[in-house]
Amino acid sequence: MTLGIVGGGQLGRMLALAGLPLGLRFRVLDPDPGAPAGAVGELIVGAYDDPAALDRFAQGLEAVTYEFENVPVAAAHRLAARVPVFPPATALEVAQDRLAEKTFFRELGVPAPAFVAIGDRADLDRALAQLGCPAVLKTRRLGYDGKGQAVLQDPADADPAWARLGGVPSLLEAFVPFDRELSVLAVRGRDGAVAVYPLVENRHRAGILRLSLAPAPGASIALQAEAEGHARRALEALDYVGLLAIEWFEVGGRLLANEMAPRVHNSGHWTIEGAETSQFENHIRAGLGLPLGGTGPRGVAAMLNLIGTTPAPAEVLAVPGAHLHLYDKAARPGRKLGHVTLRADDPGSLATRLARLTALVERQE
Ligand code: AMP
Repeated sequence: MTLGIVGGGQLGRMLALAGLPLGLRFRVLDPDPGAPAGAVGELIVGAYDDPAALDRFAQGLEAVTYEFENVPVAAAHRLAARVPVFPPATALEVAQDRLAEKTFFRELGVPAPAFVAIGDRADLDRALAQLGCPAVLKTRRLGYDGKGQAVLQDPADADPAWARLGGVPSLLEAFVPFDRELSVLAVRGRDGAVAVYPLVENRHRAGILRLSLAPAPGASIALQAEAEGHARRALEALDYVGLLAIEWFEVGGRLLANEMAPRVHNSGHWTIEGAETSQFENHIRAGLGLPLGGTGPRGVAAMLNLIGTTPAPAEVLAVPGAHLHLYDKAARPGRKLGHVTLRADDPGSLATRLARLTALVERQE
């Protein structure tokens, strides 16, 4: 049985690594002949919008999934005409457009920052008058890792921000003075069964995820229940199959939705060693109609991304409870090259181990 993955980056690679023990084979579509997932599956080198490449890729597959949300929707539909695709293309459409995403949250009753749609420069002035400063201008499409957005501290920032983002359809969001950022990962099977992982605390640096702590320290049962309720409603509204990540701002003990990703997510890498079943395995189980695995934590975990450079493996592995994942990517500033998950039985040991790991990673940077 062969599963197809659109996108051959580290997420595709970790999906394949999780599926091999289930007896699965993998085929990956990626325009880059050096794609990291090519090491663990058959790589079809082709553009995501090339019909011939898509058809060659789909040939004989059991099902197809994707590892990034900017898969052209037309490609998802072309594949879906040939083979089951999960998560559904409607989830891609929502996640590719920040306006559709925020509207989706609003219609579901999931709290999110106040926002106004922006079509032209005059809309931006009207929106600033409505929301006030500070505010965040975000392009509707192709924003990720903090790209495609600008914080406006003052109405005078509007001109340069509008020019820098290219004058494209956007939205203006109220700036949220959040206490911290969290994410929830939830998975829904073909039969509608849902399992939710514990909330994760995420810390970013220069817009890129740096550190995840799981379960999120101090997250109350009520906060977890709130996140689970919102995630369940989103999954059901989309008739979703597979893993969905929703990122949140925690402010005054409440959650505001920032964005969602219809795929396995960087803030879920800790689940490989830190949970009963990894996000990657559960995504595959869901897509193939298999029973979902437990989402409970095994002790406590911290996941540190290796960005731009990687420390010496021997030094990382000398830290107790450290699990090193290298993606076999060429080093470039700002590029995610790997991650380390630390696992421990108690928060005190985790903190000690994390201090040691952080010191050696920062020495390298
Ligand atoms: P995004 O690309 O939307 O995930 O935004 C990247 C980062 O920018 C988030 O992780 C936050 O740290 C910050 N950010 C985004 N939107 C807001 C907001 N409305 N208020 C405050 N910070 C924000």
